[in-house]
Amino acid sequence: MAARLLHRFLQAAAAAAALLAACTSPQASDHQPGLTPAEQHALAQLLPQESQLLSQPPKLKSREPEDGEKTAPGEDFYSYVNSEWLASYQMPPDKLSIGAAEELTERSDADIRKMIEGIIAANPAPGTLERKIADLYAAAMDEATIEARGTAPLLPHIARIKAVKTRDELTRLMGVIGYNSPIGISVAPSPADPDANAVWLSQAGLGMPHRGYYLSFGIEDESLRLAYRSHVINILRLIGTPDPEGAALRIYNLERKIARAHTDEDRSISAEEALRTMSLAELKAFAPGFRWDLFLSEGGFTKADRFVVTDQTAVADLAKLVPAESLDDWKLWMEFHFANGFAEYLPKEFANSYFEFFSRRLAGMEEKPARWQWAVGIVNNYLGEGVGELYVRKNFPPGYKADIDAIVANIRSAFAARLTSLDWMDDKTRVEALDKLKTLKAQIGHPDAWRDYSGLKVEQGKLFESVYGAFEYIWDEQRADMSNAVDRERWPTPAHVVNAFYNPLSNTFTMPAGILQAPYFDPDADPAENYGGIGAVIGHEISHGFDDRGRQFDGSGRNRNWWSKQTDARFVSKSDALIDQYDAYCPWTGICVNGLGTLGENIGDLAGLEIAYAAWKMSLNGKVAPVIDGQTGDQRFFLAYARSYRGKVREELARAMLDGDSHAPNRYRVNGVVRNMDAWYAAFNIQPGDKLYLPPNERVRLW
Ligand SMILES: [Zn+2]
Repeated sequence: MAARLLHRFLQAAAAAAALLAACTSPQASDHQPGLTPAEQHALAQLLPQESQLLSQPPKLKSREPEDGEKTAPGEDFYSYVNSEWLASYQMPPDKLSIGAAEELTERSDADIRKMIEGIIAANPAPGTLERKIADLYAAAMDEATIEARGTAPLLPHIARIKAVKTRDELTRLMGVIGYNSPIGISVAPSPADPDANAVWLSQAGLGMPHRGYYLSFGIEDESLRLAYRSHVINILRLIGTPDPEGAALRIYNLERKIARAHTDEDRSISAEEALRTMSLAELKAFAPGFRWDLFLSEGGFTKADRFVVTDQTAVADLAKLVPAESLDDWKLWMEFHFANGFAEYLPKEFANSYFEFFSRRLAGMEEKPARWQWAVGIVNNYLGEGVGELYVRKNFPPGYKADIDAIVANIRSAFAARLTSLDWMDDKTRVEALDKLKTLKAQIGHPDAWRDYSGLKVEQGKLFESVYGAFEYIWDEQRADMSNAVDRERWPTPAHVVNAFYNPLSNTFTMPAGILQAPYFDPDADPAENYGGIGAVIGHEISHGFDDRGRQFDGSGRNRNWWSKQTDARFVSKSDALIDQYDAYCPWTGICVNGLGTLGENIGDLAGLEIAYAAWKMSLNGKVAPVIDGQTGDQRFFLAYARSYRGKVREELARAMLDGDSHAPNRYRVNGVVRNMDAWYAAFNIQPGDKLYLPPNERVRLW
């Protein structure tokens, strides 16, 4: 579904790195690390003014219709449906994107604010979930205390880094939560055995979102890199690092080497290759030169013997980098990243520099969000499922679940009927596919059991410590997971989040209460619109189980090839055609969608809408949908779909997302899907010669 538009991309660079695993040209990594003379010159120019606002890159001329331009449906269906909305909605200065999901999130933020203010007024008892929510929110709102405390909460952590004397001590500290490491660590089910948890190891350690930001070329890239280094200098100066300019260069050079070791996500390789499962002995042989025992001991993973290594060669190359690079440079890098990671919870000078680079320069945001909204965001981040618990009690009528369950049941039946009749699938593979559909689990609305936050401490008036405490709490949970069976009932998200999810490792999809609202779902709306809205989202999530990655996992979540050779080849040729279609969508001259990088989501969109359409038809039981306001049921179905994707994204962020987000821009999520569906041609009388027209034999029909 619509990724929450890199919301986290601005909150934590590490999360962004995962989201923005991107596609720089391979030659870039052959470039020598370090600063070019031009960069050094440019940096020297910039240094005296680094505290000023960093200039924005020039805007590009779009190749797509203007916002208010009403096109014919066959010309640009997205503009045909959304031109009025696009013309009338202006991007607020404190937003990166607007659209249906953002509007719902905005509303839920306001509701949560009211709810929290009510909790604060009721003065809940110490130790309760309500008390923790109240205290965290109040600490985030209390700017005066944050200013008065200054760097005091940060300094013990900086001192801990400064006290490191040996590489072994450094390696240990890299394994402690909150301290930066070139190798990221988390706990999740093993793809080889999804009933057992494994330690996942991945590339990490960069300040900017991904390797392309360090290694690609162009004037604009240079200015972005300079802006980043200027932010590094600001932070170093604030924590009292001697010679912050020199130190920033050393940190930057180190990150450039880290970037060279990083890899781009490669969807052309198998999941088995992309997620290598190994024992500790195998890990040590795969990535030698790094004291794995020390790194893992600090996190409490000494007994782990099941590892999943992602990002192909990166982990091995990063492991070599730790002993090869200067200990002092690693320490400087770690000091900067600790302060940067917590900059938003520190005095204004930290938070402003962080905003200037990550929000304004990188993504184009003009103003900070209101303080209350930011504070709601903090509570959502660290006590999200607790907020969700209180929120759905008020905002998710129990009757909704039955309505959604009925739509889900129809979509399952429609998908099963389709699997049964597919002409390109052999019978043996078909049995497996049907079995996977049958075992697919649905999480609708909210979890049955709520997350227990009793172990999480929130300290009154201490935002920094409370956030670090939340980090440690999550870390403890992950550690505990290693000695427990996989909890297949666990939810991937708080219940009020406006998004939807599919997890191939448990073959489960999740539709939180947050997205079960208009315009996606309205119990009083015409069914054609509900199927074009929430039906398409449900179909999309289910289809992820059968997209280019998801199809490599079976019904139990195990990574296993259940495809016959012949059927596999047919799937690949169909998806190749879809890749070619999306490669040709270019919002700006020479700046195009990455068809392979977005394949999984495009399959989800196309299959999701096809199946939602079939399910809606099934739900009519042979009757013809009524004409309402002059529109046929088929028209309303497609209009609702296109409406649910209306949205605007700031150009800076839109371009960054083209480079690495797994979703195509919304315009193509609409136009690129409908033009492959026969029913759309009939509903809007699309003819040869129309821009979106595809001859029937070129329409991709996957599921
Ligand atoms: Zn998706």
